Amino acid sequence: MNRTTILLNPGPVVLSERVRRALLRPDLCHREPEFAELQGRIRENLLRVYELDPERWSAVLLTGSGTSAMEAMLTSLTPDNGRLLVIENGVYGERLSRIAAIHGIHHESLHHEWGAPIDLARLEQALAADRFDRVAVVHHETTTGRLNDLAAVARLCRERGAPLLVDGVSSFGAEAIDFEGWGLAGLAATANKCLHGVPGVSFVLARRQALESPPAPRSLYLDLGSYYRQQEAGGTPFTQSVQCFYALDEALAELFDEGGQPVRRERYRALAARVRSGLEELGIGALLPAGDSSCVLTAYRLPAGVDYPTLHDHLKARGFVIYAGQGGLEKTLFRISTMGAIGEEDIDRLLQAFSELSSPGE
Ligand SMILES: *Cc1c(COP(=O)(O)O)cnc(C)c1O
Repeated sequence: MNRTTILLNPGPVVLSERVRRALLRPDLCHREPEFAELQGRIRENLLRVYELDPERWSAVLLTGSGTSAMEAMLTSLTPDNGRLLVIENGVYGERLSRIAAIHGIHHESLHHEWGAPIDLARLEQALAADRFDRVAVVHHETTTGRLNDLAAVARLCRERGAPLLVDGVSSFGAEAIDFEGWGLAGLAATANKCLHGVPGVSFVLARRQALESPPAPRSLYLDLGSYYRQQEAGGTPFTQSVQCFYALDEALAELFDEGGQPVRRERYRALAARVRSGLEELGIGALLPAGDSSCVLTAYRLPAGVDYPTLHDHLKARGFVIYAGQGGLEKTLFRISTMGAIGEEDIDRLLQAFSELSSPGE
């Protein structure tokens, strides 16, 4: 595969040259002051993405993919013997439930069909019927591209005094997130999606108060309490992925130079709209209306008579990697993300490649 392959899968993303070059900074020991400085700067800058008050909020950095941050968040921010309500409407919501089950966290799942919007009346009933210490939900459900209505979910949770834990892995850095207004308790995210870093680093943003009095550890490696204590002192409990930290540091600097999260969201929106209208002209429709979809990824229906492997290989031969539907959806859907260092000319070449897809029988 050559360097000009354009990744349209939901992370890892096409890196800018600036971020790629950051991987070549000097070798560094994670017990040296230079590492403490690097780690401290990333933690501060992660808070700056949404202008969070560093007196109240903290970012805890982990070496691991986005799922490690989900698991660290649920296990470290659900109180001892706490009860968790998990909202599911896709693969990642169901993953939150699995994490809770594996760690023996008392939980209930409010299940929805993949792609369905969260049923607020059912959520309200569930919260009224039982006492929950935490609610967990996915912001952008990457399974279908649906952007869940966090403002509405958060309002119900606030009314019932059940703090909200969010999987923001595929929204952090691009979608609007009102941490204070929505009263969030914590959010898990990763370096290699909307932040345009490399895979290998993830993080949880949480309120300092919660990090300072965590429950008894449910995991050795994913205990946010110990990461927080040591990172506050410039250290780290375990070896961090130094080169991935370099890349994230540079990716955050690049994000700010480009105008920050609101500008990134507009850029993703413009690219997604270009794909959507171009594919529509070719008779390929989106699963969800634009207003229900994130700016990050859109799911499309496979054109009649074209299966996913054929579409994938046709596009890959022309330099584009797209993503299949998950679970049973690979038979009917494909997905296109517009994250990463890509531009309008890449989208236009993608649409050209789609137009060269011969219909069956031709
Ligand atoms: C990508 C993603 C994850 C994490 O996936 P990893 O493969 O562990 O990085 C979690 N939640 C959502 C919503 C995602 O899109």
